[in-house]
Amino acid sequence: MIPASTRDVGNTMRATNRRLSRLPLAAAIAVLAISAAQAADAPTVGAASAPALTVIHCAHLIDTVAGKMLGATSIVVDGQRIKEVVAGSVSRDGAKVIDMPTNDTCMPGLIDSHTHLTMQFGKNTYAEKFHLNPADYAIQSTVYARRTLLAGFTIVRNVGDEHNESIALRNAVNKGEVVGPRIFSAGQFIGTTGGHADPTDGYNWALQGDPGPKDGIIDSPADAWKAVRQHYKDGADLIKIMPSGGVLDESGSSENPQMTLDEIKAVVAAAHDYGFTVAAHAHGAEAIRRAVIGGVDSIEHGTFMDDEDMQLMKQHGTWYVPTIIAGEFTKDKAKEGWYPPQVARKALEVGPKIMATAGKAYKAGVKIAFGTDAGVYPHGENAQEFVYMVQAGMPAMYVIQAATTHAATLLKHQDDFGSITAGKYADVVAVPGNPLDDIALMKKVDFVMKAGTVYKQAGEPTDAALKSSLGM
Ligand SMILES: [Zn+2]
Repeated sequence: MIPASTRDVGNTMRATNRRLSRLPLAAAIAVLAISAAQAADAPTVGAASAPALTVIHCAHLIDTVAGKMLGATSIVVDGQRIKEVVAGSVSRDGAKVIDMPTNDTCMPGLIDSHTHLTMQFGKNTYAEKFHLNPADYAIQSTVYARRTLLAGFTIVRNVGDEHNESIALRNAVNKGEVVGPRIFSAGQFIGTTGGHADPTDGYNWALQGDPGPKDGIIDSPADAWKAVRQHYKDGADLIKIMPSGGVLDESGSSENPQMTLDEIKAVVAAAHDYGFTVAAHAHGAEAIRRAVIGGVDSIEHGTFMDDEDMQLMKQHGTWYVPTIIAGEFTKDKAKEGWYPPQVARKALEVGPKIMATAGKAYKAGVKIAFGTDAGVYPHGENAQEFVYMVQAGMPAMYVIQAATTHAATLLKHQDDFGSITAGKYADVVAVPGNPLDDIALMKKVDFVMKAGTVYKQAGEPTDAALKSSLGM
């Protein structure tokens, strides 16, 4: 029997083909271009067809808006969205019923605001750059996407790749060809010559070439406009810049400022023209200051953030995405000899400091969204960040909000995601127990629903998680 989902996509594709065959070529291309450009906001089709009405009976549910643990609650799901949230255990005519174990706690699908789904560091990463092609990275990313979704992350903000593979991955997930989280993609990184975004750092002269704005490498405000407009053309959803040095490239400093204030302002002005938010990777205090004054929406990592930076971030309403797990992981791997000497030195400088900075920023009242730098450590282990955030001094409820309401607000999609509320997408996950008492339970997500489709139940992947659908 052909799964219903396959039929649906097949019908859609055939209908599209019929429409296209009646259109002149230019118009047909325009139709395809529009569907690619709108992919991030498009409804999730394909993967598996959810019954029209489903009622989930949760014995416990986290209300992330109020910051409260609720008792027995029924979530009525209609197609891809939540129709009603009702206290107690209710039934609805003709609805499929999912009874969650009484020990489980339901909560909204988790959002990781900082992933790199198209790569995963290992001992051989620096050599692989000379052997692998963009297609290899794209194929690997389909495995990482599935792992991420099954870990309970129904949405990610993918903040940088080298060849726009994450845009293709996003489109494939939206079409149901690949199982994964909903992806908001920044496409390629944007940075300056020799900086953290320069893909040829550490290469010999013959291999360096001269990457420019089309590759995300800018050296003037004019280049910044060109790079952002290229991202619009490529179909990105947001912009990621590198105003400071970083750890895992082979240049000398992890914290020096690598973009001028004028370059940052140009990126932000161009990005906002196209409705993009701007995420800024920044470790050094001066780079953070420039990025905040330049108007970026979030500071990523923020290792050497000082008091003045924190005050500025509060004034400007800038989000902080700490990625503590990346610091902890790279510190450990530097000791195990994973990285070239220059990189290992920087990892040992930066890694141990992020947790303390995150704790200090929380106390100072800086707004924090959950993000992990997945890909720097193995995909699927994202939830370890919750444990580190609590260790840094944040309350368990706050860190769950950081991965739901806060992250949805940073995405500017607070009306669609981040809480179990009527009208929002039916993204629901559950853990076996009360994560407010034991935050490590966040690593044991045993139920995953994304847009009304169940991908994991009783700790096991469902058929929807194992099948993908190609409609032609
Ligand atoms: Zn990153």
